[in-house]
Amino acid sequence: MTPPPADVVIIGAGVVGTAIARTLAQYSLDLVLVDAADDVGTGTSKANTAILHTGFDAKPGSLESRLLARGSGLLRAYAAAAGIPVERTGALLVAWTPEQLAALPSIEENARRNGYLAVRPRPAGELYAREPRLGPGALGALEIPDESIICPWTTPLAFATEAVGAGVRLMLSARVTGVCSADGVHALATTRGVVRGRWVVNAAGLSSDAVDRMFGGSGFTIRPRRGELIVFDKLARPLLRSIVLPVPTARTKGVLVAPTVYGNVLLGPTAEDVTDPADTATTAAGLRGLLAAGRRILPGLAEEEVTSTYAGLRAATEHADYQVYADADRRYACAGGIRSTGLSASLGIAEHVAGLLGSAGLALSPRPGYVGCPPSMPYIGEAGVRPYQDPALIAADPAYGRIVCHCERVTRGEIRDALASAVPPADFGGLRRRTRAGNGRCQGFYCGAAVARLLAEAGLPAGASGSAGALRSVPASESAP
Ligand SMILES: Cc1cc2nc3c(=O)[nH]c(=O)nc-3n(C[C@H](O)[C@H](O)[C@H](O)COP(=O)(O)OP(=O)(O)OC[C@H]3O[C@@H](n4cnc5c(N)ncnc54)[C@H](O)[C@@H]3O)c2cc1C
Repeated sequence: MTPPPADVVIIGAGVVGTAIARTLAQYSLDLVLVDAADDVGTGTSKANTAILHTGFDAKPGSLESRLLARGSGLLRAYAAAAGIPVERTGALLVAWTPEQLAALPSIEENARRNGYLAVRPRPAGELYAREPRLGPGALGALEIPDESIICPWTTPLAFATEAVGAGVRLMLSARVTGVCSADGVHALATTRGVVRGRWVVNAAGLSSDAVDRMFGGSGFTIRPRRGELIVFDKLARPLLRSIVLPVPTARTKGVLVAPTVYGNVLLGPTAEDVTDPADTATTAAGLRGLLAAGRRILPGLAEEEVTSTYAGLRAATEHADYQVYADADRRYACAGGIRSTGLSASLGIAEHVAGLLGSAGLALSPRPGYVGCPPSMPYIGEAGVRPYQDPALIAADPAYGRIVCHCERVTRGEIRDALASAVPPADFGGLRRRTRAGNGRCQGFYCGAAVARLLAEAGLPAGASGSAGALRSVPASESAP
């Protein structure tokens, strides 16, 4: 017998889709979250610059400005409750030329128009007093004290964990390939069978235009914009305290240098339009350009070791703003084209989408017994206490004293917990994002065999990259509604 359709099917388990799932989970709704990949947060959400933006530089009056201001506040509070690593480092937007210096007052005014009032000018003397390792020639800066760094991996995992705990069915390795709508029900064809829902939310990131067209939309086309980044070793971390931003151009926020919550330093991103929405390769030219920019901004970086490089794709479109709307007749909502700020704005976007769905006719009555408590996530940042540093925890459970990954000081207890978690990893890459194992300066050279053994014991592939169709928490036949 065909099971009844879900109330809402959310397509895409990136930071936006998982935020929408946990936000809708507070209502009495039967929800399904589907993703083409074998884990949550494996698209753009895993490969960005990891900054919790205030939205000071957004376009005033835009939807992005509004949802970013709202979302960053919501995420700051959520992260504190869920144990998502966040550090309020502040940012310095540095002018290196007289033209850039002349642009600072208008950027300050723009921040105020966005409702961000804590921005303040800093003359060159104060700038160098705060960041003495900056390259020579900086003429002045704006300080944005609330810009922060955040863990981009724990964020969607926390949202998904909360959603699954509230009864949302997570269906992975299920790419949506088409839709047939009749009698008030959308039948989504996926690579794991048909999923039926009364309403659909499109949070498909780089494919959000393709999914939108399946539902009759034609308002935007994704033009992937690649951003390459370089991760420097932890020995580079004392080089700076704040996020160092450039003066943005109309096209990009530009190349920044920022600490990471894992104790490294990030340099990037580039901004290059590409045609292939899967082209996350780094390039020699891109990395050369970044290193040249990095040497100017923070000359000491030239002496530091590079731990890794990566690239992410922004879901840019022909429009400057997010593409977020709901259509009551089609019982469909779209949260697409979330280009450069979706991590920071995710909870604001989710709240907005829930409001649009409610206005479009989806009944939003509180779920009985829902307590609205964020899950307690394993802490993987450097600013707090990790299990290997906690004698009481080790005394209670010696597995937290057995280090497997020595570069990142990840213990056997943490790996065991990740493998047994509500949203477990599918492979080594997923385990990295949950624990940092294999993420350090040796990139898994020393711990790789030990981690591979633990993955194999759990029935998972040991390779460093993901594999579609791997063992997951939700069996295909049981999860398809
Ligand atoms: C270089 C770079 C730097 C950035 N820096 C920052 C930053 O510092 N701060 C910030 O806030 N934001 C930043 N961003 C932006 C942020 O990363 C994105 O806005 C955000 O991750 C978008 O999330 P998403 O859920 O919309 O997309 P995604 O994370 O891409 O998720 C979409 C999901 O949909 C799934 N999917 C796609 N098609 C289908 C289908 N047909 N069926 C089923 N599933 C499907 C995919 O598998 C994927 O998991 C940056 C982006 C880049 C590229």
